Amino acid sequence: MDRTNSRDRELRDRAAAVIPGGMYGHQSVGLLPDDYPQFFERGEGAHLWDADGNRYLDFMCAYGPNLFGYAHPEIDAAFVRQLEKGDTLTGPTALMVELAEALTGMVTHADWAIFCKNGSDATTMALTTARAHTRRRIVVRAKGAYHGALPWCTPRPAGVIDTDRSHQIFYDYNDVASLEAAVAEAGDDLAAVFAAPFKHDAFIDQSDPTPEYARKARELCDRTGALLVVDEVRAGFRLDRDCSWSRLGVQPDLSSWGKCVANGHPLSILLGNDKARAAAASIYVTGSFWYQAATMAAALETLRLIRETDYLERITALGQRLRDGLAERASAAGFGLRQTGPGVMPLFLFDDDPDLRKGFCWSSEMLSRGVYVHPWHNMFLCAAMTEADIDGALDAAEASFGALKRQVRDLTPVEKLAFLSAGAR
Ligand code: PMP
Repeated sequence: MDRTNSRDRELRDRAAAVIPGGMYGHQSVGLLPDDYPQFFERGEGAHLWDADGNRYLDFMCAYGPNLFGYAHPEIDAAFVRQLEKGDTLTGPTALMVELAEALTGMVTHADWAIFCKNGSDATTMALTTARAHTRRRIVVRAKGAYHGALPWCTPRPAGVIDTDRSHQIFYDYNDVASLEAAVAEAGDDLAAVFAAPFKHDAFIDQSDPTPEYARKARELCDRTGALLVVDEVRAGFRLDRDCSWSRLGVQPDLSSWGKCVANGHPLSILLGNDKARAAAASIYVTGSFWYQAATMAAALETLRLIRETDYLERITALGQRLRDGLAERASAAGFGLRQTGPGVMPLFLFDDDPDLRKGFCWSSEMLSRGVYVHPWHNMFLCAAMTEADIDGALDAAEASFGALKRQVRDLTPVEKLAFLSAGAR
């Protein structure tokens, strides 16, 4: 509507001169509609303010880290209290032991924890641990699944050489036959099978794991001696207070965590069972900032809220409210909108929209009404959202469907044909 973006434009211009590509990685808005802001000023609760002061209800939650709300008073107070005492020290504080005890008490398969900073640290350490445990090389993982941005798993090939990617065999998520074939191909060199909690790849419909697939992954690892790894970095603690595959009755040997475990403070975690303990103790892993105490204080407070509040039930109910309300409004406006993935981590794709033109228009309309949604990546709900926030988002959605319809209607016949058959391009 009447949003300004002059400060964002200015920052982008300056960034172009001093930051490669102006911005890098998953927070680059290069693949988002043009009007999406690149730079932000602050966050509070479920809301986010861009560099020009525009306020949004934020359905990205920092791509996951925001679980209880930005600038959460209790979590951030725990962080600041510890910061004043000491953060990066010559050794860890008692908080490290307390945190490992808390996590092993919450996550069924976990007998130990190693702390690190980014999800990629934890997934890579899972692979290293599995290789040390089995003394084998091959990882079998799902095609298209994201496990981080290091050379072995980055989705972009630039700068990566063949040997960085060697000893990997891919299967189709949820496809038992392709998993069996990948494991068979790995033969006696299989170190690990990786799986995401659900199929949360970008650009496509999401899907829940079938119990057959999850059980087969466990069975194949048991049969071959390989380790089963569930990568909870993105979905951890949004689906369950335990490892999410506990809901399927399947326990992995290792699980990687990150993003929301300290509600936005930098922490990631590798959890493992006793079987993998000796291997985990044998590998050399570390980082200058891996032992920071303030982050661990924030994590302990986050875990306390996970255990003691009804956050999970609330975000689950909010996710359902959003899903039901959107389905109703999309169909009233005559749009086929596919909402896939769990309600707390939804992804929206329009029918007959192969080049995402409708998705981009609709998302821009939402943005202009103060709701930050993503046209091709799964989103995240947080516990700071209220029913009123969801209802406000639904009002914005209704108006945005209307605006999208008008845009299609206002096109010339030739333009309309191009819009509606965009996928043919
Ligand atoms: N695994 C999954 C499933 C992820 O979603 C991500 C991050 N999006 C990672 C690993 C890597 O985490 P990070 O960006 O913190 O290194």
